[in-house]
This record gives sequence, C-alpha cells and structure tokens, in this order.
Amino acid sequence: MSSEQPTVLLVEDEPAQREVLAYNLEAEGFRVARAGDGEEAIMMVEEEQPDIILLDWMLPNLSGIEVCRRLKMRPETRQVPVIMISARSEEVDRVRGLETGADDYVVKPYSVVELMARVRTQLRRVRPSTVGERLEYQDIVLDSETHRVTRDGKELKLGPTEFRLLSTFMEKPGRVWSREQLLDRVWGRDIYVDTRTVDVHVGRLRKALTRHGGSDPVRTVRGAGYALG
Ligand code: CA
Repeated sequence: MSSEQPTVLLVEDEPAQREVLAYNLEAEGFRVARAGDGEEAIMMVEEEQPDIILLDWMLPNLSGIEVCRRLKMRPETRQVPVIMISARSEEVDRVRGLETGADDYVVKPYSVVELMARVRTQLRRVRPSTVGERLEYQDIVLDSETHRVTRDGKELKLGPTEFRLLSTFMEKPGRVWSREQLLDRVWGRDIYVDTRTVDVHVGRLRKALTRHGGSDPVRTVRGAGYALG
C-alpha cells in the first residue's frame, strides 16, 4: 500500500454501524482498521499506527472517553487526531469529550458527508500530502495531487518511491525518521523490504534533488536515520 493511503482506526461496537462507516471510508480511499471495543482499540493503535481514529463514546470494557484519555496521555499517540462519535448530544457531553483531548466531536446520527469532511480536516493538519496539499520546503515544492516536484522552479523527475519518501520528509521537516519508520510509511507495513533498500532510495532521492544544483537537503543522522534539513 502506498503512503498516500491514510489508515483510519474505526472503533465502534455495533457491527452494522461499523461496516457502513468502513464502507464509506474505503470508498473515500482510506485503509480501515477496525476495533470492536476499547481495549482492542488501544492494542490496534500500536499495531496499525493509524493516521486518525474515529472513536465511539459508548463502548464495552473501556469507554471511548477513557480510550481517548489514555491515547492523549502517551507521547507516541498524542499527535494522532481523535474524532469522538456519540449518540449523546447535550452540550455538557460535547465539552467533556473535548476536555479529554478529542480533536473533534460528532453526534449520531451524523451525515457521512460531514464526517468525511471532518476526517479530511484533521488529516490536513497531520498528513497534508494525503489530502492533495501542496508542500513547500525552502525552494522545493511538492504537489501531491499532480505528483509534480520542482526545485527552484525546475521540474524534478522522481520515481514513485522517491516521491513518497520526499512527501514523508516534507510533511515534517526536521523530524528524524528511522529506517523502520520510513519502511512502514513509504513501502507499507505488510511488505518485507530490507532496511538497506531505504538507503538506496534515499540516495536516489538526493541525486534527483541536487541534479540542477542546490545543496543536499536530506540529512543522515548517525545511528538514527534521516531527516529533511
Ligand atoms: Ca457504541
């Protein structure tokens, strides 16, 4: 799976509701991981590393509120946007939902179109390249809709893997990515690729980026991985 397909973790205990929502999310181009209760949700977050979580409030075992609280307490999962979904519509519940750190709150019955728009809004914040945004870093411009990359106005030819590598780097300039993280993000979690393959493609990316001059913006962080800038 390409990195351009964001993963949604869908936490809902009602199978019928879960499947309707999963169907709609998949139709919108998302990869959907499903959890049926709160404890499973916590486990799946680690396994699937979702880009966003849709979390039902009323769940068996662990409530959605408690799941959200735990995720927002942990540094590894704090950044993942959570949209709480609830049948409760009173203002007090909405406030409580947001107080636990949820990034947005949707009341059942919701419009699927509106929910999809809210999912995109959250993703635009954390993974802009997945929603057709233009990313810029210094003189490099990456258009994720047309797949064009330019540097100092000159078009660069990148292979699909180098393109995904660059968009991953450009989403978070300065962030250090380990080879394993890049493998997950760029090649997908289900594919076995040797970590040295990452080095090969980073090498190709560097060559492409410096073809028309300019310094190499990709930094090798010894013992850790790679970063942009
Ligand atoms: Ca429920």
